[in-house]
Amino acid sequence: MSEWISVAEIFGENVFNDAVMQERLPKKTYKELKKTIEEGKELQAATADVIAHEMKEWAIEKGATHYSHWFQPLTGATAEKHDSFISAPKSDGKILMEFSGKELIKGEPDASSFPSGGLRSTFEARGYTAWDCTSPAFVKKSPDGKRSILYIPTAFCSYTGEALDQKTPLLRSMEAINKQSIRLLRLFGNTTSQKVTPSVGVEQEYFLVDREKYLKRKDLVFTGRTLFGANPPKGQELDDHYFGAIRERIAAFMTDVNEELWKMGVSAKTQHNEVAPGQHELAPIYAQCNVAVDHNQLIMETLKKVAYRHNLQCLLHEKPFEGVNGSGKHNNWSLVTDDGINILDPGKTPHDNIQFLLVLTCILRAVDLHADLLRESASDVGNDHRLGANEAPPAIISAYLGEQLEDVLAQLIDTGEAAHSLKGGKLHTGVSTLPDFAKDATDRNRTSPFAFTGNKFEFRMVGSRDSVAAPNVVLNTIVAESFSDACDVLEKAEDFDLAVHDLIKEYASKHQRIVFNGNGYSDEWVKEAERRGLPNIKTMVESVECLTYDNTVEMFEKFDVFSRAELESRAEIKYEAYSKAINIEARSMIDIASKHIIPAVIQYVTSLANSINQVKQASAVAYTGVQEELLVQSADLLKDTKEALRALETVVAEVPETEGKEQAFFFMQKVVPAMEALRKPVDELEMIVNKNMWPMPSYGDLLFEV
Ligand code: ADP
Ligand code: MG
Repeated sequence: MSEWISVAEIFGENVFNDAVMQERLPKKTYKELKKTIEEGKELQAATADVIAHEMKEWAIEKGATHYSHWFQPLTGATAEKHDSFISAPKSDGKILMEFSGKELIKGEPDASSFPSGGLRSTFEARGYTAWDCTSPAFVKKSPDGKRSILYIPTAFCSYTGEALDQKTPLLRSMEAINKQSIRLLRLFGNTTSQKVTPSVGVEQEYFLVDREKYLKRKDLVFTGRTLFGANPPKGQELDDHYFGAIRERIAAFMTDVNEELWKMGVSAKTQHNEVAPGQHELAPIYAQCNVAVDHNQLIMETLKKVAYRHNLQCLLHEKPFEGVNGSGKHNNWSLVTDDGINILDPGKTPHDNIQFLLVLTCILRAVDLHADLLRESASDVGNDHRLGANEAPPAIISAYLGEQLEDVLAQLIDTGEAAHSLKGGKLHTGVSTLPDFAKDATDRNRTSPFAFTGNKFEFRMVGSRDSVAAPNVVLNTIVAESFSDACDVLEKAEDFDLAVHDLIKEYASKHQRIVFNGNGYSDEWVKEAERRGLPNIKTMVESVECLTYDNTVEMFEKFDVFSRAELESRAEIKYEAYSKAINIEARSMIDIASKHIIPAVIQYVTSLANSINQVKQASAVAYTGVQEELLVQSADLLKDTKEALRALETVVAEVPETEGKEQAFFFMQKVVPAMEALRKPVDELEMIVNKNMWPMPSYGDLLFEV
């Protein structure tokens, strides 16, 4: 894009946002909608009709022909079905452009093929989508800008009201954390804030590779990651890519990505090169939780779409290349009131500090009590390659607080006296005011999965490809539970100050084990965590079972976030997703090894044999030892490859038929090791075989020639 653009002008130009609504909706309608958005009140049918009409008119001015209820089924991706605005032709053969309130509020996609984990049998397969009016509608334009589709963010439920998507539980969890946070704030004398909303900022990592090379890698095409591939002579050891100058081709791509995102109201803010060659990051400015989740989906989609236009391929997989850093996303999370107070901000006065300390210790308690759930929320087939692999956080959940704050907690726990004494009606926390946790003061510990960074927590386990809905559902709910438990105690307390103090101390002492400020990548931490009794759940399939533990179900049911049936269905879906993904990987490996790699190696081996024979024919004294050595080496590896291939084929044929936990465990325990065994000789061969004969681009080609 060569012409000059005004970011301020284009930002949000494709969004039916507050400014547009204020301008276009009748005052009364606007007010009613705001009430719905702010207080979660139900929308009147007549009001919905007015909104739908204006939305349609606005969208048509932007070139819209269709509308779509946009939703997030449990596939991890987004789903959409387009309906045009046209009415049935009249007797004169003409049509009208129509869109009713009913169509805006509720949709009925025939979505029976989405995973429901047994929640829906096919005879009652129809689910419905319901408008999430707290996330604004927008239009997505065709590349020439002439046509567009109106997108309406929705939640997706079954007819009996069960959640079939990511958004429904997210909205429910936001309600839970709102209620409990307000309860807590009221106890501290805050009477003005009406609502507390989680704020979320998601940093997204991704790789870019040349599209033509990508297309020659069937493993990338089929599975999103390389199933074979020897390490290039140069990796990321020089750290010369990290925050390095952004190359022109990439910069041009980023420019287009930003522009598209800005138009859709996504506040893309930072971009830089990441640690690995070919790896980059994009982060927007944080937004209300559900909007941030929607925007992250738009970011992933836009990255892929724009890459395509630039003849690039965007890889969102957590581990596209073995031996090279993988990708994740950081989920920055805080709680903010409608009047702008971030309750994860320590504040300036001792009074604020005490509330902050309670909030903080409640969060530590929540994370300690439900470490397994938090871990599960970041589990994904691809993420199994990252977590615990000394590049991403370990699979063990712990919280990093930074030295200052850890010291405060330690004082609270140790110096019980100071912590208990009430002086001059004021509470002593051991430190009269907490130090100002300037952002830079909180030392950045990159190895911690859950780090306090000044006024927010940063959950760093999430996989790059995954929706951030699940981690936020868990964070919102587990913290709501601890707030609720704290409020139960404090609301009954006779001496509030003393009770708060005791509670902070109790939570801090009981859950101190979850705090770890050291190097999360070290082996000592693994041992230390075990000693502390912290769970170390290494794989996705092992993490899933906590979804249906009694204490999990109890908590989610208590806060109306998930029913037992919904949790069971989610566990089923995860097992299935795992099995399907590994099955595709295994079959792709078999295909590539037998049709491409083995034939190429045979060709190479034959060329060596021919060379030996020809050289010998030409000269009785010429040395052929090099060819002979290579011939023996590659022929041996060829044999190993063929054997490993046969072993993988055998194990794939033995996979239990019925989908579910048993099958997923079989894939993890039997198929994955067989895949690794096949990869090994092939990667060794790649280092030997003539590059011109190797059937696909190498890591070096993919990572350094973009
Ligand atoms: P980094 O972690 O890479 O240094 P930042 O800390 O500046 O980057 O921001 C990372 C993300 O956290 C951004 O999306 C930012 O908008 C978001 N963020 C900043 N403050 C908050 C907050 N209070 N709550 C939630 N997210 C926040
Ligand atoms: Mg960060």
